[in-house]
Amino acid sequence: MKEFDIIERFFNQKCHQRKDVIHGIGDDCAITRVPEGLNLAITTDTLISGVHFPIDTPPEAIAHKALAVNLSDLAAMGAEPAWYSLSLSLPEVDENWLEAFSTSLFELSRYYSIQLIGGDTVQGPLSVTITAHGFVPNESPLTRSGAKPGDMIYVSGTLGDAGVGLDIQKGKLIASEHCVQYLINRLYYPSPRLLAGTALRRIASSCIDLSDGLIRDIQHVLKASECGARIQVDKLPLSVALKESVDVEDAYSYALGAGDDYELLFTVSEENKGTLDIALANANISATCIGHITGIKQKLELRFEDQPYQSLRSGFEHFS
Ligand SMILES: [Mg+2]
Repeated sequence: MKEFDIIERFFNQKCHQRKDVIHGIGDDCAITRVPEGLNLAITTDTLISGVHFPIDTPPEAIAHKALAVNLSDLAAMGAEPAWYSLSLSLPEVDENWLEAFSTSLFELSRYYSIQLIGGDTVQGPLSVTITAHGFVPNESPLTRSGAKPGDMIYVSGTLGDAGVGLDIQKGKLIASEHCVQYLINRLYYPSPRLLAGTALRRIASSCIDLSDGLIRDIQHVLKASECGARIQVDKLPLSVALKESVDVEDAYSYALGAGDDYELLFTVSEENKGTLDIALANANISATCIGHITGIKQKLELRFEDQPYQSLRSGFEHFS
């Protein structure tokens, strides 16, 4: 099967059409239209087999994750998804693999109304690169740099699930059957928090998505905003499945250090707290206050029930 046939059969035919795409797949470039009053947010992410996902990951999960991690970056900036391009490196042409991959990819694309507008397929080690484009209002974008001392720090959803899922997948951890499915799905099928991202426009002072783990990712906010943070570790939101699968000490280690959750971390001023509560309730989004921003540049303090937090377990060092 030639490159052209792969693109035509697995990608072009399954593509839905947005009105703002003037030329989609099939020419040297795609041509699209950005609506007046909006700016373009652009992000790119590469997932490499054996590095960013285990070698035996099903094609449906690889496709979902490759698009979802890009959508998560759009969510972190309050962007609304529009278009994406896909560069696929495949060791061989496996039609069953491509069918499963593309079906999953277009399920997620249709759900978020994001259109594939071009890309490339090459022969090589399995890797997937997606570049996603979204719209943001042209005034005051949501960035990492607006956090101020006194702002409250929130996270959406629950933390640590994907990390536990990965350790189950690797055979390092054994959990009960009903937890296993939930935790592995959190690893393979992350939910980009796009609704939360747009709801936080003009309310949050800063925002980032959690891809590398809370401890690592919050540092980007502290650096960009030139401030510090105090996190109440005992306030970190944990899922029932996570709490049932590991002991308390490890649960907080995963929530602090493990990556791949793709939840949003954001900061909100005291003044905007009421508006935030209304926005979260209206959009049916769960978010938890886990601490506050301090004035001490780039200092991250971890507390547990108001005492300095010391983890006794290796999990914490493993991630930090
Ligand atoms: Mg990101």
